[in-house]
Amino acid sequence: MNAPARSATGYVLGIDFGSTTGKAVVLEAATGRMAASAVSQKGAVSDEGVKAALAQVFGDLGISPKDIQRCVATGYGRRMLDIADRTITEITCHARGAVSLEPSARMVIDIGGQDSKVIAVDEAGLVTQFAMNDRCAAGTGKFLEVLARAVNIELARMGPAALAAEGSVKITSMCATFAETEVIALLAEGCDKAVVLDGVHAAVANRVMGLVSRVGQRAPIVMTGGVAQNIAAVTHIERALNTRLIIPPHAQVAGALGAALFALDDLRTDGVSPRLLDPKIEGQVEAVEAGGMPCAPACAQKTGEQPIAFQRAPGA
Ligand code: ADP
Repeated sequence: MNAPARSATGYVLGIDFGSTTGKAVVLEAATGRMAASAVSQKGAVSDEGVKAALAQVFGDLGISPKDIQRCVATGYGRRMLDIADRTITEITCHARGAVSLEPSARMVIDIGGQDSKVIAVDEAGLVTQFAMNDRCAAGTGKFLEVLARAVNIELARMGPAALAAEGSVKITSMCATFAETEVIALLAEGCDKAVVLDGVHAAVANRVMGLVSRVGQRAPIVMTGGVAQNIAAVTHIERALNTRLIIPPHAQVAGALGAALFALDDLRTDGVSPRLLDPKIEGQVEAVEAGGMPCAPACAQKTGEQPIAFQRAPGA
């Protein structure tokens, strides 16, 4: 894109190239108002979802890429996008987007297709601490997708079905593959589908609780990411944490919104406010993504490893 313009006219764009979905948010450069947003699912780790989301927002606004003054990309595949002026990690973008959607938030739980993150934020939306699981499907949307398939129910129906359960069962495997075997065995024994699904959501909540305890629970908590649409996941996490979660409108595009807000900063100030972008946190997230840090898979059950957690150095 490399738009040279500095005037606050036109639009800025945030893209979240997720593992499962592509998300785009367009803000009016003059006002910062959200002009359009889109979520598109076109298969894992391909740019088709992002392309479709972009086509939708451009079509909705009747604009083309030349009307975009700045673009920031985040998410799993953020480096694969030529359109972006720069990239920022998901931790930073989700925190910024979530706090902009719910300014009272002091903790963000984001559960996407392939990872789950718990982020502590200050009043401005700056990340102070985070923990994430991006090494395996435990506690992620993928875990729910795998188990929905095993139970033969549509993703969108699994949450309401689980809430109708009378009784409960414990799914002991955090690993999606082992949990699938366990679920199939339970169904073969005649265990009710709804009860099995209830157990599946409780397992996700249990995993998320592990991440929350690494960071230290704060309140209020905002939940973002696609799994925020799953009522049983939300309910089980609320029970596990003994608190209500705030699910803002546009929860699934929080990361793209955060990216768009950074793009707006770039346009208006020719550089992001250092208050909201901590290079140390960015470095830590990138190190995790590159696999250079000890990971936090469900295999921690066996190895005793802890989820990845970081804290900003005091005074940093
Ligand atoms: P990513 O950013 O990694 O692509 P998302 O934040 O878009 O992931 O979340 C994708 C996950 O959201 C899916 O794995 C699925 O579990 C969940 N999800 C998506 N749509 C729905 C829905 N309608 N009902 C329940 N869960 C959903």
